Amino acid sequence: MVKIFIDPGHGGNDPGAVANGLKEKDLALKIAKKIQSLLNEYEGVSVKLSRTTDVYLSLSDRADMANKWGADFFLSIHINAGGGTGFESYIYNKPNTKSVAYQNVIHPEIMKAIGNVKDRGKKRANFAVVRETKMPAILTENLFIDNANDATKLKSDSFLSQIAFGHVQGLEKAFGLKKKAAAKPSSTKPATSNKKEVYRVQVGAFNDKKNAERLVAELKKKGYPAFITK
Ligand code: ZN
Repeated sequence: MVKIFIDPGHGGNDPGAVANGLKEKDLALKIAKKIQSLLNEYEGVSVKLSRTTDVYLSLSDRADMANKWGADFFLSIHINAGGGTGFESYIYNKPNTKSVAYQNVIHPEIMKAIGNVKDRGKKRANFAVVRETKMPAILTENLFIDNANDATKLKSDSFLSQIAFGHVQGLEKAFGLKKKAAAKPSSTKPATSNKKEVYRVQVGAFNDKKNAERLVAELKKKGYPAFITK
């Protein structure tokens, strides 16, 4: 069992960065929940969030929760601000070798998933949550809330899904996660052939299979029986 602790930054009376009608605490929570639901498709993964609602937690509270739970990995989700654009990730500035290795795997998967976004690089800092956690830890800064172009992207729910998907692709690679086997039909009775016409609905065509898989996951979550064809 791989225990992954996801920490949506800020919350409650700490909104984090605020600009363009967006609050960092809300975006971080949305992304974290999307990561959680995507991780549910994998076997042998246990996920815990530091918060699932809009509540305040101190930085030490977050690290303590992960330490007490015995997490294998700590992932903190943030949105950047301060006049820039793009994506960057952080590990502790005196990192353990595992954190370095995981950052090397996860960072590029997120960049791949979010497309045309500036890569600000794999960084190191003395942030409390990556310092006080006993397990390998990474903090991601997902675009700039105070940059008009970045904010437009962050207002799109499907873009937030792409961010989440990138994190999960990274975790899949980093921890060798395997998808759960598809549920078997409960009955083997052959369908009666009543020769009804079947109309198929196509919602997207992709060059990259990962993008198709992400859309299928999204549709399935909404209750549509989606599948990939070539
Ligand atoms: Zn933040």
